[in-house]
Amino acid sequence: MNSPEYPDLRWVSPRSWSSAGRSSVQLVVIHTTEGSAHAGSAEDGAAYDQRRTDGTSAHVYVDSDSVVQCVRTADVAHTARFQGNRRGIQFELCGRAGWSASTWAGEYAQAMLRQAARVAARVAREWKIPVVKLSPAQVAAGAEGFCGHYDITRAFPADGGDHTDPGPDFPWATFLGMVRDELEEDDLPSIKELTDELKNDRSEYADWSGKRPWRQLARTDMSTLAVLNGTYDTARAALSAITANAAAEAQRDAAQSAVIAGLSTAVQSIASARGVLTDAQVVALTETVRQAAATAGAQATAAVEAKLDSLAGDLGSLRGHLGDVDPTVPLG
Ligand SMILES: [Zn+2]
Repeated sequence: MNSPEYPDLRWVSPRSWSSAGRSSVQLVVIHTTEGSAHAGSAEDGAAYDQRRTDGTSAHVYVDSDSVVQCVRTADVAHTARFQGNRRGIQFELCGRAGWSASTWAGEYAQAMLRQAARVAARVAREWKIPVVKLSPAQVAAGAEGFCGHYDITRAFPADGGDHTDPGPDFPWATFLGMVRDELEEDDLPSIKELTDELKNDRSEYADWSGKRPWRQLARTDMSTLAVLNGTYDTARAALSAITANAAAEAQRDAAQSAVIAGLSTAVQSIASARGVLTDAQVVALTETVRQAAATAGAQATAAVEAKLDSLAGDLGSLRGHLGDVDPTVPLG
């Protein structure tokens, strides 16, 4: 099953967590699992949290080839005692606090850090958490940013924690650099930002004209810009319909059709934008529309996914013509 929050991640709900509906979060907390470290470890860690009875969970498990989400970022996972749980989004990296700098620099750990950075960048952007490493004193004082479980232990001695992960040789500078790189590459609004914007400002397009991510790309091609903006408006109108009518199944189905239509138009637009959009931006545009469809609800998801997959296939062949294809970037 896919995560209801990040549809490109697998979702495995644990036995123990707390529904919280947080509206703000102070910390991204990095942990190491102290268990196995291979490409199946994130899946194993999440599966173990479904069985274990000691009240432990994390928001995400990360290994070298995947991230498995277990708890929504607005809810509370159980892994860093009272203060750490309440204040943080918990990333469990399938590795060990005792690893040396050279082990962290190795192939498995670097691939895992990149997986973690991709999701941490989304979390940081959506929760407006600065990409900075905090000291225990800063954590205790309520500063926002990234820290390790060790910093939680030091910041809140009254909680009686003793964990020291992710360890003294965890490569903070490398990891936060990866997170920043992800933030720079991905300047499309997320589905959460889109829906927040819709909720906060229904006064139409005033605030949106400046946020179309491709506006700066197409100065030399105004007709392409017009097509892309039209596509974005179509997808946005569909999303608005989905948000407004989430309870009305018939209207939701119509809205999903509109999303499909929006994606079809996007395929056409991308064809005409050849040479204007970068490959990563094509992927990001596809992802934005895919996520709009994903929010439409579980009942019709299978049918929508099948159509999106076939459209994603169309996008894939278009990407082949766009040049500079990076086969390691999934199409979504
Ligand atoms: Zn920990």
